[in-house]
Amino acid sequence: MRPSTDRSLKPIADGRRWNFVPDPGQMALRPQVSGNTISGLGERAVRRPTPVYWQKPASIAHGRMQEWFEQRPIGESVRAALARRQAVMDTPMPERAETRQRKSPREWSAGVRERALAFDADLVGVTAFRADWVYADRAAPQYPWCIVLGVGQDYAQMRYAPQEPAGTEVLVQYGRILSAARRLSGWIRTQGWDAEPFGSPTPATFPLIPAAIAAGFGELGKHGSIINRIWGANFRLAAVLTDLPLQADRADVFGADEFCRNCRVCEKACPVDAIAPLPQLVRGVERWYVDFDRCQFFFNEHLGCSICTTVCPWSRPGIAPGLLAKMARRSLPVERAGAAGQ
Ligand code: SF4
Ligand code: SF4
Repeated sequence: MRPSTDRSLKPIADGRRWNFVPDPGQMALRPQVSGNTISGLGERAVRRPTPVYWQKPASIAHGRMQEWFEQRPIGESVRAALARRQAVMDTPMPERAETRQRKSPREWSAGVRERALAFDADLVGVTAFRADWVYADRAAPQYPWCIVLGVGQDYAQMRYAPQEPAGTEVLVQYGRILSAARRLSGWIRTQGWDAEPFGSPTPATFPLIPAAIAAGFGELGKHGSIINRIWGANFRLAAVLTDLPLQADRADVFGADEFCRNCRVCEKACPVDAIAPLPQLVRGVERWYVDFDRCQFFFNEHLGCSICTTVCPWSRPGIAPGLLAKMARRSLPVERAGAAGQ
């Protein structure tokens, strides 16, 4: 069921100018330390990430801001989406079967893809799991493989970002991806192998974006989310870690990074100028970066915002093939480097 759209709301295409002043109650909860410092902005040395948000509130500096967000008054459609996601969380998963089924990594990978799509995922990719993706304060899960799943969002609803129809749609899709990850984990267990789902709303053990890029979902965009060649940035992620023997997909480098160097759409649309125009040094790597401190106040007061990912030209349904063709004509590096993401 889709959230109903209040006729008084206007889509972001209306070119609204924001004059945002953060709620003083939220401002008062701001910690001394910057989220950018925690993230490692400006650091030259490579290191494992430190969690900034979406954790047990007592364990992070921004925990009181996270609680403030989680305790905001919500509308009926948001409440219903949260309840549906909780019902997914509460559905038991099977134990691992005692007998291990045996197949080749290629056959298992094909089976995983088929099952994931049958469980309502739109995107599937596989990568070797890397311990250096895991937050520095956690023990790395002992699994060799990471299956990344994605579900697309209804663009007609996301056009209302940062208002309730978009926030509701995000939660609806998090419920859907959580269901796919749990059902896939359950299926792998019935084959006699270990599998564990990861994704919202469980506190994150590792950020999903690096794994998704490695699994062939696309490239990091200037807005800090992945640009996929089909869905743009209009999708949500979850993952399954497993010891099922699999075959890795390859990264899909098709020119999105290059495109971002000549595009300023998300930068200009961000109400709080949080999106850096040029790549920044973060824990020893030059990459696109969103200023956590600037984004977070607006994000918290607008149901997760999503303006930047929605205005991204790649996210508009039907636009990506034309962009890819245009880039190919300009001889930008359009390369289909992996089978993932189909
Ligand atoms: S999510 Fe954050 S970075 Fe993106 S538009 Fe909203 S405030 Fe800006
Ligand atoms: S809006 Fe433009 S600059 Fe921003 S992520 Fe999308 S393509 Fe890149």
